[in-house]
Amino acid sequence: MGVVAIQGDVSEHVLALKRVVGQGEVLVVRKAGVLPQCDGIVLPGGESTTISKMMSHSGMDGEIRDAALSGVPIMATCAGLVLISREIEGDDRVRPLGLMDVTIGRNAFGSQRESFEADLEVKGFDEPYRAVFIRAPCIVRCGQEVEVLARARDSVVAARQGNLFGLAFHPELTDDLRFHNMFMEAVADVL
Ligand code: GLN
Repeated sequence: MGVVAIQGDVSEHVLALKRVVGQGEVLVVRKAGVLPQCDGIVLPGGESTTISKMMSHSGMDGEIRDAALSGVPIMATCAGLVLISREIEGDDRVRPLGLMDVTIGRNAFGSQRESFEADLEVKGFDEPYRAVFIRAPCIVRCGQEVEVLARARDSVVAARQGNLFGLAFHPELTDDLRFHNMFMEAVADVL
């Protein structure tokens, strides 16, 4: 498993993945050349403008695109979701990878001070899931291939399009690893 380590909450994702990965290895990926060998990729939250620039500078953008198109599962959280989207509403500072057929509203719930937690009803989960939102985006438009997994405050905040998982919140910041498990199941299905 590869965690793209350009900026943001990388170590938390690494710890969460190590708890669910079983025999597998979790790699902290800082440069091009590693992602093509990964069976699953995590694109963490952070600042999407910064991550976007460094991703294309390093050449990892093309590798993520190739992996996604060849069916490798990708879990993109918060800024990661912004980056895998097809388009971003009213903001041309970030050039998204255009992988998930969604339109994103950045910072949709307000500023850092307005960060919040919410109990989500998630498709496929028996119990509510407590999600942490930090300057979170939301999904304002979903293409036909996109399955909505959860909403918060009337907005779509979790979705799946085949091998792509887009989450507006931070599943790596809580002990509830159901989203990491869901992602690992997708990885196991491909192997
Ligand atoms: N607001 C940030 C962005 O759009 C995302 C915040 C986060 O990843 N926690 O880049």
